[in-house]
Amino acid sequence: MTKETRILIAMQKSGRLSEKSLELFKQSGIVINNGKRQLLYRIPELPIDILFVRDDDIPMLVSEGTCDLGIVGSNVFKEVELSKKDEEFNAAHFFSLGFAKCRLSLAVPEHFDFHSPQSIDGLRIATTYPCILKDFLKKNKLKCEVAVMSGSVEISPHLKISDIICDIVSTGATLVENGMKEAYNIFDSEAIFIRNTKISDEKLKIASKLVSRLDCALIANKSKYVMLNAPKSKIKEITNLLPGSESPTIMPLADENKVAIHAVCSEPVFWDTMEKLKAAGASSILVLPIEKMML
Ligand code: ATP
Ligand code: ZN
Repeated sequence: MTKETRILIAMQKSGRLSEKSLELFKQSGIVINNGKRQLLYRIPELPIDILFVRDDDIPMLVSEGTCDLGIVGSNVFKEVELSKKDEEFNAAHFFSLGFAKCRLSLAVPEHFDFHSPQSIDGLRIATTYPCILKDFLKKNKLKCEVAVMSGSVEISPHLKISDIICDIVSTGATLVENGMKEAYNIFDSEAIFIRNTKISDEKLKIASKLVSRLDCALIANKSKYVMLNAPKSKIKEITNLLPGSESPTIMPLADENKVAIHAVCSEPVFWDTMEKLKAAGASSILVLPIEKMML
């Protein structure tokens, strides 16, 4: 009997990426019920195994072929990729997942007079992302000293370890708490699927099928099914108001002057859109979530 081909995916064990990753799999109908917190989890109904690890280890586990795929922040991936620039590195971006969005930014003390990256020339910068930072400094012809830290970067100016910092920012609240402000975004990050560039065609087929299922779930998450009734004379005006809908379905109603319009909207339907629809003559407006969708 030939051995079944299975793919191994590295996922963060616990942290900002883990919950959203499991949720996305669940929305695609793949339940990872790792109640016993095993490091290696076998998805019974699919040829897929999951290895739960720290996010920092994921790029190398994939590059070295221990894992075939991995879910990691593009910041961490880029940092490792740049650090291995002169060595063999066999991992590449496979698919963007759109969650865990954050940015790597230069942040300066609140009274610092920042105009452009040139304002920081010659300063000492603390960061946990030395390769991305050095790449940015080089591209901008800046001569700065880089102090590498493993965490708590935001306190380094207080400790006189550095003049400014380069750190992950999402809302900026941590910076404000530490008397700093975001000055310049150097890298936009989000969760991404990475893959080993040397996996077999058979494994790539399994991986591609998984990714297309996850993609369907991501699209379904963003989309809404809108149903409403509209006067026949207002069909064009009302369909133009539906955000991101391609070709709505228009159906007759018992009242000959009215029609029912059904549409899949690929963009969020906010209250103000619903108010505009109503003002244009629409009635009985329903906005429903979509569980599954295949385009
Ligand atoms: P581990 O214990 O696995 O090493 P960690 O503490 O290094 O975890 P997390 O804080 O869980 O990492 O962050 C994981 C990833 O989530 C980051 O590399 C980044 O891509 C993203 N991230 C970090 N901070 C934020 C934030 N405030 N908002 C959204 N995404 C973020
Ligand atoms: Zn980490």
